[in-house]
Amino acid sequence: MTRFILVTGGVVSSLGKGLSSAALGALLQARGFKVRLRKFDPYLNVDPGTMSPYQHGEVYVTDDGAETDLDLGHYERFTGVPARRSDSVTAGKIYSTVIANERRGDYLGGTVQVIPHVTDAIKQAIVTDTDDADFVLIEIGGTVGDIEGLPFFESIRQLAYELGRDRVMFVHLTLVPYISSAGELKTKPTQHSVKELRSIGIQPDLLLCRSDREIPQSQRRKIALFCNVPEQRVIPALDVENIYQVPISYHQQGFDTQVMQHFGLADAPPPDLAVWHEIVRSLQSPEGEVSIAVVGKYTGLRDAYKSLAEALTHGGIANNVRVDMQWIEADIFETDGAAQQLEAVHGILVPGGFGERGVSGKMAAVTFARTKAVPYFGICFGMQLAVIETARNLAGIEGASSTEFGHCQDPVIGLMTEWGHGETVERRNVGDDLGGTMRLGAYDAVLSPDSRVRQIYGCDRISERHRHRYEVNINYEQSLNEAGMRVAALSPDGQLPEIVERDDHPWFIGVQFHPELKSKPFDPHPLFASFIKAAVDQSRLV
Ligand code: GLN
Repeated sequence: MTRFILVTGGVVSSLGKGLSSAALGALLQARGFKVRLRKFDPYLNVDPGTMSPYQHGEVYVTDDGAETDLDLGHYERFTGVPARRSDSVTAGKIYSTVIANERRGDYLGGTVQVIPHVTDAIKQAIVTDTDDADFVLIEIGGTVGDIEGLPFFESIRQLAYELGRDRVMFVHLTLVPYISSAGELKTKPTQHSVKELRSIGIQPDLLLCRSDREIPQSQRRKIALFCNVPEQRVIPALDVENIYQVPISYHQQGFDTQVMQHFGLADAPPPDLAVWHEIVRSLQSPEGEVSIAVVGKYTGLRDAYKSLAEALTHGGIANNVRVDMQWIEADIFETDGAAQQLEAVHGILVPGGFGERGVSGKMAAVTFARTKAVPYFGICFGMQLAVIETARNLAGIEGASSTEFGHCQDPVIGLMTEWGHGETVERRNVGDDLGGTMRLGAYDAVLSPDSRVRQIYGCDRISERHRHRYEVNINYEQSLNEAGMRVAALSPDGQLPEIVERDDHPWFIGVQFHPELKSKPFDPHPLFASFIKAAVDQSRLV
């Protein structure tokens, strides 16, 4: 029997509902249950694929090629369960379905309305494709009281009514702020938030209260009384030093125990948290530190590189070192040159990106890493720029560039108009819609037997996730090779270069895909583990 845990948020946004859901998922898993996690976002974009990183942070890509909210990254990193397209639902996606049904005549002449048509579609999306999980955790984006969220709240109210309260649990995340002038934690925002929820027919079963300090028993009692929730289900969610402590901290506060009780599973064995203790131990007592420069375009907004930052941390866990990340805006190299900022770092990473702004700064970083023998990791755009850099500076192809920046004489990076995926051939054109038209999701690549990446991965064939329009042009393979850059992995049909590397350098690897999306704290991605290892070696030299 699948049970549903609905996680809503109140008071303010950014309280960390995604992380809370992910950590609860990890705790249930540690008790031996099978879980799925899902995100429902009330905005009207069909998916976050066309949203600016400044608006929405990173776009997380699933194996089946969905462009989703970054919270799905937390879910995967905490549970290891690969997310799917059906785990990411937006109001835009729901409305598109309802409107398409209406055009087809499925509603038989009825008036199409938010209730029941939109709410039915939302409920359907909640219960569909659950893989017989024991628990499906559904996070509702936004904050209670948002106008656009109302159909979602109405749907979960109906769901609880239809399935029964023993299959549905409402968890509400709120804020208990400390007001320094009064010297007190305040419960009123939580009371108001719960009042708002109850006005739309939802009585929370458990309150998760974010706070920067211990919440005294007296305040918890007050929240319990005013919000109609048993005192032991007013769970403090205190700030922690690093996110991987959250499952342990929640367990200490009794969160998962209360969830078990709600569902009548009080006899379930306690969770096995050994892996989380080990991860936290490694993060708290590293044996050294390396410094990695990430040269990108959205460095002011850390959420834009969420998975990347986590994957670098995981690489640190694999080597028992702390990774100090220096986020450097590529633009600054255009005026000052790269040298000064990069002199003291042990590794340089140029991440994924789009468009021409910042390109010459990123190229300066590539040149620096190549010529000074500093470990270099190029991811997607960072790989494409490394190819252009080699083509221009070592292969003598002066006009080498990417067609992403307009027409060029030597398109070493260009738009493929068709490519194979499994049995099918996919096509795209310059004038296509922007949404969902990239090479998206998991693709296989075949590694060259004598390459460095073959050693790093320890296997011949890999599957990694993609999100890009442009590809390295295979016709330039020989020129690149002669310039010391070899194609170390290809798509199975031999048409698309997937990895490039240099033999004359301590660690210089560019990958066309996004390995950061598959890294886990308990299973660091091999490329990140190897890159940080190279940075450790580098730190011994400088
Ligand atoms: N802009 C490049 C492309 O579309 C790279 C994309 C990326 O880095 N994700 O191919």
